[in-house]
Amino acid sequence: MLTIKDPNARLVRWALKLQPFDFIIKYKNGKLHSDADCISRHPLEPEDEDCGIPVWISGVSMSDIPDIRNSQLKDSFSQKIRNILLDESISKRKKKYWSKRFEIINDVVYKTFIKNREMIYAMVIPKSMISNILFSCHDALTAGHMGTERTYKTISQRFYWPKMFESIRSYVKTCEKCQMNKVSNCKPGGKMVLTNIADKIFQKIGVDLVGPLPKTERNNKHIIVATDQLTKWVVAEPLANTTSEDVNNFLLNKVFLMFGIPKELITDRGTNLVSETNMKFYEQYGIKHCKCTLAHPQSDGKTERYNRVLGEGLRSFTKNQHNWDLYIHYLVFAYNTSENDATNKSPYSLLFGIEARLPVENLLGRIKNVSLEENIEVTLSNLRMDARNAIQGSHVRNKKYYDVKRSDLSFEVGDLVLTKNLQRRKGKNVKLQSKYLGPFRVFRKLSENNHQIVSLDGKPKSDIVHVEKLKPYIERQVVGLSERQ
Ligand SMILES: [Zn+2]
Repeated sequence: MLTIKDPNARLVRWALKLQPFDFIIKYKNGKLHSDADCISRHPLEPEDEDCGIPVWISGVSMSDIPDIRNSQLKDSFSQKIRNILLDESISKRKKKYWSKRFEIINDVVYKTFIKNREMIYAMVIPKSMISNILFSCHDALTAGHMGTERTYKTISQRFYWPKMFESIRSYVKTCEKCQMNKVSNCKPGGKMVLTNIADKIFQKIGVDLVGPLPKTERNNKHIIVATDQLTKWVVAEPLANTTSEDVNNFLLNKVFLMFGIPKELITDRGTNLVSETNMKFYEQYGIKHCKCTLAHPQSDGKTERYNRVLGEGLRSFTKNQHNWDLYIHYLVFAYNTSENDATNKSPYSLLFGIEARLPVENLLGRIKNVSLEENIEVTLSNLRMDARNAIQGSHVRNKKYYDVKRSDLSFEVGDLVLTKNLQRRKGKNVKLQSKYLGPFRVFRKLSENNHQIVSLDGKPKSDIVHVEKLKPYIERQVVGLSERQ
């Protein structure tokens, strides 16, 4: 591909996208490659110039990843650890210090530490492979472009390299898709209502409808989302219609019959959630129904928060707006397997007592973390108790946050910025359009709040932009991420 004489636009984009990576292309029998196959067969609209690279499950070059042992041998940090652990001439004290922190298993170096009552074996990632891990744990379909904290937590649970938080933060901060699609600040809302926290899984469930979205080829226009309030486990399905029957069917088949009947159901006042048909259905299963009042939408903050993650994820993954329903279950997986802000644990681990295996782990052959508790019941009840306490703490923190005003942003001439996307492209759904446009450069400051901006090649933009509609754009410094030995 890189040597084709007259490549078309699509191939050029591919070549550009692949340039930062060290990779080998290998032929793999279709039978052995069904994972990527299912994605490559998604009906992508060929004419959409925006649609770019199809999304791969585990990251660009993961299926051709170099052998971890050999890569570690070529890596100075892993090599240093290996030497200390294996060298007989090194002092006992020094060896003791390092062997408490690192271990060699099957000839692969791991960092070991205890977290959440678990012995974590984090595979030491050689410098040459850091960008692969970052891609597969942030950009890939099963990763869902989560924020710095979540990405860090997902990675640190499985992998290690020196100064990893720094590199993850700079990678996520400079992710173009994230910058274009995520809302940077939340305006303070009304007063927050602190609700009682469930102490059992699937005791309290929040339900919400998202949409209407652009109609997909499968006629879907809505997403229905159910969130367990303790574990934050999410179940979501695309829906063509949102009648009360559709809602009831989803709840029965995808939630109640899978996870048990909840005691309490929290919804907003949407007519398809609180109709007579719904009420009868809830009653039939002995479920107490709570309407979260319009004045205090935060009382159901969990589903609302999730809707934002889902919306951001969908925007990041698809400019091809008529196939968004193909991505939902991947995003739900990304969400359920990444650490939640409120519980400090992944919904998956709170439900099953272990972390999910990610595609990239399988490819690298990483060994599993080991629970320090004697049995799974003890592990789970302790994990859930911790989660409940953490939710309580986060409620208090969130309440505080709502009182805090936004800090004032200011920009200087020469700064790179993104501008709020106020244009509405015909035929494109507002919810799935990029939230920001750019990057642009600040050309002149007309006042503290008003800025004249130009495109990167210096072409002036006619509009004067108010500071409220700007946010800083952060460039990715490729050096340090794709540094090779
Ligand atoms: Zn991103």
